[in-house]
Amino acid sequence: MASRGVKRKRGSDDDFGGSGGWSFGLIRAMEDPQLQIENDEDMVIIRDKFPKARHHYLVLCRRDIQGLTDVTRDDIPLVESMLEKGKRLVEKIKENEEEARFRLGYHALPSMRRLHMHIISQDFDSPYLKHKKHWNSFTSAFFMDAVDVIAELKEKGSVTIDKGLYEGILKEPLKCHHCKQLQPTMPKLKDHIGRHAK
Ligand code: AMP
Ligand code: ZN
Repeated sequence: MASRGVKRKRGSDDDFGGSGGWSFGLIRAMEDPQLQIENDEDMVIIRDKFPKARHHYLVLCRRDIQGLTDVTRDDIPLVESMLEKGKRLVEKIKENEEEARFRLGYHALPSMRRLHMHIISQDFDSPYLKHKKHWNSFTSAFFMDAVDVIAELKEKGSVTIDKGLYEGILKEPLKCHHCKQLQPTMPKLKDHIGRHAK
């Protein structure tokens, strides 16, 4: 929900679908040489400032597209090339970390402006991954794989988002993304997924 009137913690990203000035943070971050790892005339790849896994990057388009619901059939080449750029980065990482697994996709209800695709490793080994909404946003249907987004765009010419549905998904019980076992708390979940990694 929009966070009008709600104070956001400094140095955190604890919100979804907010409307404050912080929601422009990615537009500023795109130009930050400390965060930028690749760029061309159409897009920029940056490190996520609050990574939720060992590898977490964002592919942002330079054109002023606010988010997925503003993408049209004409933008299919752009989202396809964002995915290709992302895949190339993943291949590069896997040269040194063959076992790393990744997903590339979009949050159904992003908190930040400017169309951005997440590239995130599936270890979720990060101190920034603190809340249920963080977990559910990356491990449920809230995380829309880029290939599915592109397929929907090709089929319908736009991406439809049911806000109520996705807000509900963020509140669903915690579940391990490997074995689907329910977990009562974030610390227990983190302990559990750590055991899968061994
Ligand atoms: P979302 O809008 O939910 O798709 O995700 C926004 C992502 O941007 C989150 O993964 C945040 O950790 C990340 N983020 C928030 N602020 C910044 C920033 N200033 N620079 C880089 N990444 C950020
Ligand atoms: Zn499990």
